[in-house]
Amino acid sequence: MDRPAVIRKTASDWRVAPHWHDYEAQRADFSWDDVRRELEGLPGGALNIAHEAVDRHARGPRRHHPAFVFLGEQGQRDVLTYAELATLTNRFASALASLGVHRGDTLFVLSGRIPELYIAVLGSLKAGMVVSPLFSAFGPEPVATRLTLGAGRVLVTTESLYQRKVEGLRGHLPQLEHVLLVGEKGRETSLPDTLDFGRFMSCGTDVFDTVPTFPEDAALLHFTSGTTGKPKGAQHVHKAVLMHWMTGKYALDLHPGDIYWCTADPGWVTGTSYGIIAPLLHGITSVIDEGEFDAERWYRILQEEGVSVWYTAPTAIRMLMKAGMELAKARSFPQLRFIASVGEPLNPEAVWWGIDAFSLAIHDNWWQTETGGIMIANAPAFDIKPGSMGRPLPGVEAGLVRRLQDGSISLVEAPGEEGELALKKGWPSMMRGYLGEAARYRSCFSGEWYLTGDLARRDADGYYWFVGRSDDVIKSAGHLIGPFEVESALLEHPAVAEAGVIGKPHETLGELVKAFVSLRHGFEGSEALRRDILGHARKRLGAAVAPKELDFLPSLPKTRSGKIMRRLLKARELGLPEGDISALEQS
Ligand code: ATP
Ligand code: MG
Repeated sequence: MDRPAVIRKTASDWRVAPHWHDYEAQRADFSWDDVRRELEGLPGGALNIAHEAVDRHARGPRRHHPAFVFLGEQGQRDVLTYAELATLTNRFASALASLGVHRGDTLFVLSGRIPELYIAVLGSLKAGMVVSPLFSAFGPEPVATRLTLGAGRVLVTTESLYQRKVEGLRGHLPQLEHVLLVGEKGRETSLPDTLDFGRFMSCGTDVFDTVPTFPEDAALLHFTSGTTGKPKGAQHVHKAVLMHWMTGKYALDLHPGDIYWCTADPGWVTGTSYGIIAPLLHGITSVIDEGEFDAERWYRILQEEGVSVWYTAPTAIRMLMKAGMELAKARSFPQLRFIASVGEPLNPEAVWWGIDAFSLAIHDNWWQTETGGIMIANAPAFDIKPGSMGRPLPGVEAGLVRRLQDGSISLVEAPGEEGELALKKGWPSMMRGYLGEAARYRSCFSGEWYLTGDLARRDADGYYWFVGRSDDVIKSAGHLIGPFEVESALLEHPAVAEAGVIGKPHETLGELVKAFVSLRHGFEGSEALRRDILGHARKRLGAAVAPKELDFLPSLPKTRSGKIMRRLLKARELGLPEGDISALEQS
């Protein structure tokens, strides 16, 4: 079906007036000092993320406003107000003192999306500790590796996760002094060398003076998704809170009455920056679902919780698409006003599907673990060009560069030309280092630019278009082919649910474009279907760019944060070692 290249926005689309409505003027007027003034700060120029997220509201008019609505796997629904969250995080922070840990020490959390995770993260920040939440589905090795790399002195986890993933390797983790266990169904735990979470909390006090951390003090440690190789530990500081606040306002358009749902797990940077911090900074209510993806459940949550702003990811959207439109149509979503997506390129087909399912376009945005916050976005007031990740936010200077032989870079200025996406240093949530990899960190910078490793184009209107990660770009018969373009064309075929495209070494072409697809419900892989999909791609892309080979897979290998692992498709295709697969989702 032919769709227009631009989705126009008009004022009649708004339920609330968008914060960012004049692209150029608001960027020109923007200053980080103004953002700092929106936050409270602590005496002596100190700044602490948890103070801004929790205590500022707990002492103000929003103290009885729900901060979190926790939806348990068994159907429980627990609400925590800002005042309650302040008390619980105070208890956690004050109890930490009894452990003899200090400001700057690292605390890890390994759990599902249960209230204790959120209390531990915010409580540790109050105590001036560095926090690192891990995916609860990681196996024992990835957990131990990360705990060791981050020199974790404290671990908050559940009894069953501890028994399955940590206990056996505890002898190899000498720096891990304290393990706090959340028991099943609130039961007290009594495993050796551990403390019961409830008992620990009872050692704390309801009142606590948040540690006056400096803006440049370490706050969060996030491991990258591991899409392209071994995950890196990106270190972030308290000053990142300025970015969390700014993007909550301009990219997610959060308003006081919002009910917000970020579907990302805090084991991934999105689930912390936008699943915990940004919504709290704006004093709104966040829905936290403990359950795993289930299309029916998700639609039910959107409807029954009255979600108004929804931040999700392409992989989740593709799974909803795979589950069929009927499920979406069985519900109504009168409160929903804004949908955003991050993590992977959002195929135009998914943007259109949003309009069919919710009467709302899905707004793609781009950032990385390293950038600590959203950098390039489609915001509610501005036209969308499906397939584009939008334009740089206020306070963000983006550019495209080419790396030169001598290690320097040159700027790519011409509209439509491809280059490596680069960001001018100076935004507050830039990572301050890769844990234990100083040289790698340094190699990310050239002069005043941070180089992202992603290739993109910018059109004449300043919209950025993702081409592919520099590692994934395919060189075939003299053409440079971005997998995103090919995958998006494949997804237009009615049978295709997911697509991953790689370059396979080839004698004459250099690389041959090979596609892997999984199918929507009701379709079976067959020779005729293969030919039909390849024919569709050829028509859309031309013979030089279209895949020459196509395999059907039941599903594509993905990271825990939901990204297609093309490097694994390639390694498996070529019979090469799979490399670091600690972040691979095992279904
Ligand atoms: P690793 O660095 O370990 O290989 P990763 O890069 O996937 O993993 P993240 O920091 O979680 O780890 O992901 C950031 C990357 O995800 C970006 O560099 C980009 O390649 C991709 N990405 C994120 N958002 C988008 C988007 N909207 N469009 C296209 N790609 C995106
Ligand atoms: Mg990366």
